[in-house]
Amino acid sequence: MYTEYLQNMLVTAGLTMPIRRGNELWGLIACHHYGGPLHLPYPVRVACEFLAQVVSLQHKAAEDREHMLYRLQLEDVHRRLIATAALTCDLSRITEGQLTLLDAVQAGGAALYEAGRWWHMGRTPSDDQLDGLVRWLATRPEYIQSSSPMYATDHLAKDYPAGASLASVAAGMFALPLARGLSAPHGVMMWFKPETMQTIQWGGNPHEKPTVTGPHGPRLTPRVSFEMFAESVHHRSLPWQSVEIESAARLRVLLMELVVARAERLADLNADLMRSNEELDTFAYVASHDLKEPLRGIHKYAHQLLEDAAMITADRQVKLASLMRLTERMDSLLDSLLHFSRVGRLSLELEPSDLNVLVSEAIEMVGSRRDDMSTEFIVPRPMPTIYCDWVRCREIYVNLLSNAMKYNDNASKRIEIGWIAPGEAPQPPGRTPNTSDSPTFYVRDNGIGIDSRYHTQVFKIFKRLHPHNAYGGGSGAGLSIVKKLVERHHGNVWFESTPGEGSTFYFTMSGSTGDRT
Ligand code: ADP
Repeated sequence: MYTEYLQNMLVTAGLTMPIRRGNELWGLIACHHYGGPLHLPYPVRVACEFLAQVVSLQHKAAEDREHMLYRLQLEDVHRRLIATAALTCDLSRITEGQLTLLDAVQAGGAALYEAGRWWHMGRTPSDDQLDGLVRWLATRPEYIQSSSPMYATDHLAKDYPAGASLASVAAGMFALPLARGLSAPHGVMMWFKPETMQTIQWGGNPHEKPTVTGPHGPRLTPRVSFEMFAESVHHRSLPWQSVEIESAARLRVLLMELVVARAERLADLNADLMRSNEELDTFAYVASHDLKEPLRGIHKYAHQLLEDAAMITADRQVKLASLMRLTERMDSLLDSLLHFSRVGRLSLELEPSDLNVLVSEAIEMVGSRRDDMSTEFIVPRPMPTIYCDWVRCREIYVNLLSNAMKYNDNASKRIEIGWIAPGEAPQPPGRTPNTSDSPTFYVRDNGIGIDSRYHTQVFKIFKRLHPHNAYGGGSGAGLSIVKKLVERHHGNVWFESTPGEGSTFYFTMSGSTGDRT
């Protein structure tokens, strides 16, 4: 084929010298002679061979030097990124500031999934497109099974058909997982290269396979046409360099070590926090329990002194009466504190609970407490059955309902008790959309409302927004107990309110309809 090829070009003598890169053939120096045979003497051939060897060595040295410089440059960037992440224990910090993950590899954009969200640098696909890519990556063996998991391509659309529409930002993609759990989305860092339209000049159309029939059947012939065949290549990016891939894999290992160290630290902190919460609850319990005894003594002596009214002046009688009132108030505060600490320590008895029955019990309890016929309780649709501690969940409703009645000047008080299913419109305000499978419950009133300034304060123990005997009095512990009970059920509580118009208290109980174990 080769001599036929030369004949086609009217070449009569040829000399070919290889340019090697290690053991691989990298290129050729090809010399053609026209117009008859030509014999090169031995010293000329040796000199040519020597020349080809020098070119090979020079070429390899130049390429190695270039790679080495690039590797050192990348490693410096990685070292500084790791230092930033380690200092703050926050991976997302390597996505902002002067030096980011986008400097770690030559690319048009980079994305990191960390702390439950995507962080973008440069030009990247959208969050939804990234989620789709990560779901697809979790099906690639090289990404999930290999000891050095990664995926790198300069032609994403070839493996991932939906990638064709991403070509302007992500014709090429390089992804490294940062977490072991491969549910989507998961910890991952990704780099993207845009489409680079390449025009390849072929010596003949590479898609035509010219064959002739020889003595042994059909065989390939050198292409007869020497016209340049230009082919445009679509949906391709410039390739990822092996230096980039190797050093990014090292960066991944270091970042994963940080992730593990951070998880361990968090677990330690959580254990400490739980211990100190338990200690605090026990302390509050013991302190309030023990304080009640001397208080009873004070109350008893004040009472005895008051009984001997003839012996003391009217002015002192008033003071003694105040002393008794104060001891009674302190007694009720201690009761609340005792109860609050008990709520933190008791173990919940979770069971399927029909909220229709539970809520009607709660209404009965607050209704019988205050014989108030002007209050209308509305349950707009049947309540679901959820998995919770019956007594504690009823306590949540009793607290919210009694507040809805207490903090209400309206001649006709209207209290609505309902729930919003996940994904149902309108979703409750003031929180990110509820993505769990459990509903959001609410208690809405047309009462005096609360200024949004107090949105965290009202949940603090003993915090009242009014003088302690206004609006029927209270110890200021009700909402803090509600918060603790909701949190014991892995939920959240918050409110939305317009002063003068009313308030709505919302709460969730995570896993209340799903996880029943
Ligand atoms: P307490 O009712 O014993 O004072 P809570 O912890 O139940 O204690 O409530 C804290 C404060 O939040 C109350 O003093 C009141 O000012 C405010 N608050 C609670 N619920 C409502 C409501 N439905 N409407 C208006 N204000 C409320």
